Amino acid sequence: MESPSKRRKKNDSKPTPATHGSLDFFFRKQAQQSLASPSSTSAQDQSKSEQSLSDEELARKLQEEWAREDESQSQRINVGETSASSDSAYRNERDAEESLTDTLAKSDSEAKAVPSEHEKAILGLQSTASDGDAVTLTIPFDQSPLVFNPSTYVPELKRQWAKEGGDALYALLTRCFFLVNSTQSRIKIVDTLVNCLRVIIESDPDSLLPAVWLATNSISPPYISLELGLGGSAISKALKKVCGLDSAGLKTLYDKHGDAGDVAFEAKKRQSFTLRKPKPLSIKSAYQTLVKIANSKGHGSVEQKQRLVERLLQDARGPEESRYIVRTLVQHLRIGAVKTTMLIALARAFQLSRPEGADFPLQDLASLAKLKKDELAAVWSSAEETVKTCFARRPNYNDLVPGLLEVGVSDELLLRCSLALHIPLRPMLGSITRDLSEMLTKLQGRDFSCEYKYDGQRAQVHCDENGKVSIFSRHLEVMTDKYPDLVALVPEIRGDGVSSFILEGEVVAVDRNSGQLKTFQTLTNRARKDVDIGSIQVEVCLFAFDLMYLNGEQLLDRPFRERRALLRSMFIEKEHHFTWVQSIDATSTDSETVLEFFKSATEIKCEGIMVKVLDNLPNPDLLPPGQSPPHTEQLPTPKKSKKSKNAQEKDTEKEKGTRRKALLATYEPDKRLDSWLKVKKDYATSADTIDLIPVAGWHGQGRKAKWWSPILLACRNPATGSLEVVTKCISGFTDKFYQANKEKYEQGGQNTHGKRPSYIEYSAYEPDVWFEPQEVWEMAFADITLSPTYTAAIGLVSEERGLSMRFPRFLRVREDKSIEEASTAEFLAALYRKQEARVKETDNIGAEPRGNGLDADEEGLDNEDDEDHY
Ligand code: ATP
Repeated sequence: MESPSKRRKKNDSKPTPATHGSLDFFFRKQAQQSLASPSSTSAQDQSKSEQSLSDEELARKLQEEWAREDESQSQRINVGETSASSDSAYRNERDAEESLTDTLAKSDSEAKAVPSEHEKAILGLQSTASDGDAVTLTIPFDQSPLVFNPSTYVPELKRQWAKEGGDALYALLTRCFFLVNSTQSRIKIVDTLVNCLRVIIESDPDSLLPAVWLATNSISPPYISLELGLGGSAISKALKKVCGLDSAGLKTLYDKHGDAGDVAFEAKKRQSFTLRKPKPLSIKSAYQTLVKIANSKGHGSVEQKQRLVERLLQDARGPEESRYIVRTLVQHLRIGAVKTTMLIALARAFQLSRPEGADFPLQDLASLAKLKKDELAAVWSSAEETVKTCFARRPNYNDLVPGLLEVGVSDELLLRCSLALHIPLRPMLGSITRDLSEMLTKLQGRDFSCEYKYDGQRAQVHCDENGKVSIFSRHLEVMTDKYPDLVALVPEIRGDGVSSFILEGEVVAVDRNSGQLKTFQTLTNRARKDVDIGSIQVEVCLFAFDLMYLNGEQLLDRPFRERRALLRSMFIEKEHHFTWVQSIDATSTDSETVLEFFKSATEIKCEGIMVKVLDNLPNPDLLPPGQSPPHTEQLPTPKKSKKSKNAQEKDTEKEKGTRRKALLATYEPDKRLDSWLKVKKDYATSADTIDLIPVAGWHGQGRKAKWWSPILLACRNPATGSLEVVTKCISGFTDKFYQANKEKYEQGGQNTHGKRPSYIEYSAYEPDVWFEPQEVWEMAFADITLSPTYTAAIGLVSEERGLSMRFPRFLRVREDKSIEEASTAEFLAALYRKQEARVKETDNIGAEPRGNGLDADEEGLDNEDDEDHY
């Protein structure tokens, strides 16, 4: 799950028609069906008759239906397989399912009208907890880990789990999720996770890995493609079926709560019957079912997935379990246990607990309890740094968790999780700087390299001694199939002395003859996978900027100057195919040169510059008079020191008696440090603003679940009297504004018919609510693009395409303007023409057609959900 801001440069920047997080897809389909399908009346009748059935009758009816489905499914489902273990897990599960199904189907057909005593037990009232659950439901996971004692709970939990097959139950995770969800405090969230992980480590270590996957709301690392592939409709259908709701009931719940998990909670609360005696979900079985859903491919997979979802929902005991199962299914768990938090929790948990039989050392609780706050923080931080380093180099819980269970947080773990070919490391990131002068101030006393910041797609290229090549995206997805031309290029660029390597660069669309750079949007026109090397339309050049591994040796701890020298000496340029990023070396005294370089970057369609520290040590000649360079022994020695980099930096800082941080020139996977600075041309390249009318909105996700976000905005077309939608906006709003906006449009401002008003021109993804147009908002934007989605100003600039805006940002409500004074389509078109003229001025070698494929919302706008900034 990626934040919108990350979608831009993902290996998938095409529009996603329906988000998993929403059920609107289902409702839209329902609406369409009821309009289009001649059988809709009978469907309605059926739903009506279902409503008039008693709970028990309905349960029996569905039971029969399921038994029939089970029978036919078991004969025809063809399930894709990825691994032997998931396959055998699948078979075991399936056997269990089938025997249960058989029993139920048999008992169902034996007793027709009058349910037997046995059946009554099966079709009994929903039970939410068994006796043993009482322990689970009261575990104080949110205590301080220094107080919490897993052994108080483990024996009783194990006794309870033994009755259900021995595996840790999903109820335990639900308890943890519930507590995490009930607090805003990051400390409490981490404590709760730490304690929950400790209980699992000490009671059922085999469930730790699936628990970590479930808590991080994922099932595999990004470079192993395993997608649930569920639409909102699968979940809403399952909710209706399992909880006995009709469409209207479900829609009411959804409109009220806006979150699929909360809807499931309410639906389950209201459920008065259960179809089978719930078989308690275990952590393992929940995870395995998700893997099965993801692996379900080919003919019959839709039904198979549907059935698995229904089983999950049915086996979820009680509303809370249902809430989190559904949130897991819609891939929006909302518990803030994202990567960073999970790594911290794992590091701490393994300082305090180990599985039976393991002998790695643990911290002594009594001694920890005596430490001062900052001393305790130092103990945690050192362990956290190790775990984070491991995960940054090997971003896969399947590697990390088994390693932790065996050797704990140790040097051995670092060895096990070191860099490996064909496994992407998490890329180093650049910090944002406001402008060049801020950058020059930050890097005083340092030698640095300024590089063009190309507007393409980051690529990590791996090649082993046998010449096998893998290419990964910024978000670690495999894109080897997308760039067969780069794969073919590797033998040519690899110098004689190179056997294996991992290098990094930016793939940019180029004109093969002139080498002229093309826009990022041009690059998005390349297919995502299975690109045929013989029919490539979008030619690319790889601009290499770093080398992390060479001939079996990892180079992360070498200073950038050295890595760059190796890159440039060991590899061979090929004109317009493979080269180095354009760069100059400079210091803070070279402001004029740097400014010129920055200008030259923007002139050739680069986004700005990246500035990288070249050496670990400051240049003594550049230090202000009176300030001496730090002694060598004060500097971190990355290979030997067991201290975290942060701790080292702090030490150096202290000893130097200066506030300036020691900036390392090493490659730091997954870190955003000041040793890499991004200086971009301002997003708001356009000084123009436009006045638009808010016309519709979607239920927000996550933090914004209670409000409308994004919001759809339109301009006026005075000729037709219609409002033409221009863009969706999620940027520039404060929470207070969102709240007020929600209230405003609830108090009579909302168009309650639920249909697009005929005077609004819009045909893309249906919003959740249409507003009664009533006000004007002043909007800023980066630039205006030709849009494949929006039809605003169609015919004024292009006959086929309308206009939209990139990076729209709300500025203010124009209290002084009525909606009749909102900007017109002609005004929008004029802005576009003005912008194009400006572009041609700076680029008279024939500008790339702009706006061929992406609108703002597809490019991603805000970072607020970025887990790295958690
Ligand atoms: P980030 O990748 O830092 O999280 P982001 O996704 O918003 O941020 P940008 O702010 O555009 O991306 O900047 C970083 C990206 O710039 C890199 O991930 C890389 O794809 C690209 N880039 C282009 N030229 C260079 C370069 N010379 N050195 C490093 N990165 C570069």
